[in-house]
Amino acid sequence: MNHALPIESSSGFISVTNPFDGVEVGTVVDIPPEGAQVLIETAKEGARACRSLSRYERARVLETCASLVERDRDAFAELIVAEAGKTVRQARKEVLRCVNTLKLSADEARRNGGEVVPFDAYDGSANRQGWFTREPLGVIVAITPYNDPLNLVAHKLGPAIAGGNAVILKPSELTPLSAIKLVGYLVAAGMPPHVVSVATGGAALGEALVSSRDVRMVSFTGGFITGEKIARAAGLKKLAMDLGGNAPVIVLNDCDLDDAVESCVSGAYWAAGQNCVGTQRILIQSSVYDDFRSCFVDRTRALRTGNPALPDTDVGPMITAQAAVRTKRVVDAAIGQGATLLCGNTQDGSLYAPTVLENVSFACDLWHQEVFSPVVVLQRIETLEEALLLANSPEYSLHAGIFTNDLHAALKAADELEAGGVMINDSSDYRFDAMPFGGFKYGSLGREGVRFAYEEMTQPKVVCIRKSEYATRKHSATPR
Ligand code: NAD
Repeated sequence: MNHALPIESSSGFISVTNPFDGVEVGTVVDIPPEGAQVLIETAKEGARACRSLSRYERARVLETCASLVERDRDAFAELIVAEAGKTVRQARKEVLRCVNTLKLSADEARRNGGEVVPFDAYDGSANRQGWFTREPLGVIVAITPYNDPLNLVAHKLGPAIAGGNAVILKPSELTPLSAIKLVGYLVAAGMPPHVVSVATGGAALGEALVSSRDVRMVSFTGGFITGEKIARAAGLKKLAMDLGGNAPVIVLNDCDLDDAVESCVSGAYWAAGQNCVGTQRILIQSSVYDDFRSCFVDRTRALRTGNPALPDTDVGPMITAQAAVRTKRVVDAAIGQGATLLCGNTQDGSLYAPTVLENVSFACDLWHQEVFSPVVVLQRIETLEEALLLANSPEYSLHAGIFTNDLHAALKAADELEAGGVMINDSSDYRFDAMPFGGFKYGSLGREGVRFAYEEMTQPKVVCIRKSEYATRKHSATPR
């Protein structure tokens, strides 16, 4: 049941299906674009309700919700497996991260209320004192993708509620059920009605919402093409854009090779590679290239691909059969341009076997575009300088990694990798929910990570007091 949906649709329903077997998991109302105005009016009421809550009350809702989600973590995990095709282990981890995201959001509500402004620290304002508060923006439209259907939603709702805003949440039409369940738990935790409305529907509804003048911010996580459309439609409002990546990981010859292989296997194939910080390109120094390749391909071949609900499955399905077909097409094109296939590249419905390639042309899409699939490119490099040049070659980036025990090499990579996060002796897909998170080059707008999203979702209001002449004179008078 959609707890927060204020309108009914005459146009029908969206069937949400299990990516592995196609069985229907649930249905949601398909709200047409004409429904946007009702959602916006409802959210304006929600914005008044949320801003009038004390910080204690906002924090209490978020903390209570965190406890309820933690209590029902198995049910949340089952739903993620069913609608998104993540494996049980991956889904459980996502639920626990969501609990943490909600708790961190409660902390921001309590802690991040504003600051004293030291007016008298500069010439000309000795008779002023004051502060700034962090005020809500009002109505925020949050649009989320399919691949982390719970925690990425929490990354928008938690900071927005902590900041006193209302949210119209448009989850991916492929995976709206975890989002709806989470909003139901927020209501059960005491969130006033209308603070969050779930706008179940497709691109047309999303576009109608983002173009409204009553919306103060669009917080978007998804692909570049959609991000560009939203930026064009949004007009004058705040935009946060969390878009794709094509993460490079550099492996230098002095590193712990077994550790590098294990970390890169996890980084590449987590969530069947449908991971914005998933490892896509591994740049390996010549003297360890052959050993790395042989271990990495062996480990890849050993992964069990299949039903994500079974506890020993390592790699679940892709979100749809079309996504798997598209991946095969991209890989076939790379092979057509001279790449060598080392393993994988078989597709059966939504299942796509983890795939490793080498000798990939730098002109291929597979080199410079996000593939968002369980596909890895191995590249031999001679020097760190060469690796950095190649790592930085795509026009956008999110995370990057390096494996080395050479402190100078690690620091040089931290300095020169063009990425929002550089992981040293870890694969690119490490993320902790409190750290700043976002892209670095084309399309990067704003940061998530709870404190950073909260700050994007609030606006400072300055209060400045001019002290009376008498008080100023008294204060500055020279003692006799
Ligand atoms: P997508 O861009 O296809 O869709 C994302 C959301 O946008 C969906 O809810 C969709 O309905 C909505 N949408 C589509 N067209 C719209 C429009 N014209 N106006 C408004 N809304 C519209 O992305 P996806 O396929 O669901 O997710 C995969 C992408 O998300 C990948 O590129 C991945 O890297 C990215 N992603 C980024 C992060 C991050 O934090 N940087 C995290 C996860 C995923």
